[in-house]
Amino acid sequence: MTEYVFPTPQTVAVLVAGSSASFAVRRVFCVGRNYADHAREMGANPDREPPFFFAKPADAVVAAAGTLAYPMMTEDLHHEIEMVIAIGKEGRQIEPQDALSYVFGYCVGVDLTRRDLQAVAKKMSRPWDWAKGFDESAPVTSIRRATEIGHPGSGAIWLSVNGETRQTGDLGDMIWPVADIVSHVSRAVVIKPGDLIFTGTPAGVGVLNPGDKVAGGVDGIAEFHFEIGGAQG
Ligand code: MN
Repeated sequence: MTEYVFPTPQTVAVLVAGSSASFAVRRVFCVGRNYADHAREMGANPDREPPFFFAKPADAVVAAAGTLAYPMMTEDLHHEIEMVIAIGKEGRQIEPQDALSYVFGYCVGVDLTRRDLQAVAKKMSRPWDWAKGFDESAPVTSIRRATEIGHPGSGAIWLSVNGETRQTGDLGDMIWPVADIVSHVSRAVVIKPGDLIFTGTPAGVGVLNPGDKVAGGVDGIAEFHFEIGGAQG
């Protein structure tokens, strides 16, 4: 038995809806610009770009509920509502037509972003890690099993702040649908149970301030409510 100098880190867990079991999170991948209208609002051309990915640490995942800390080091925290794929089987070099069998289920998440840091990173050709991978930057709902809800190819995706709708879209508008996303990730790394993949956000991303009440959801998967806490010193 290995002896550790500190207690081993706690496993990050996401509840599985309709059961007492949890999904142990291994890694978090995110697709950039997967809805044409959002790609355009960020100044990119959606017709010319294959999908690209970035990652968040597993412990960025928290329940999309209660109060989330307003992060350090930013004055421009943004919301990005996204459907999230939960991987349930190991695989590599997966063909799109086989990809859905690797999906355990789906949840709804917010890819919280320190947009001011991302803008600097883009300008300086630096990594996005500090813009995307901070503490509590990946709030998610509980996971719905694909055996229960199937593989959603369409359905409304939305987010509101203080009761005002900010983002609306439809899963059917994703440039790269679920099967293609899983296939692409599996050509870069071996995917394994516990991996989560954020699938991109529709247009309407915007600022979150301390005290804001955030709600969102994807029809047929889940809805959530959380509040942004006070700014940290
Ligand atoms: Mn995103």
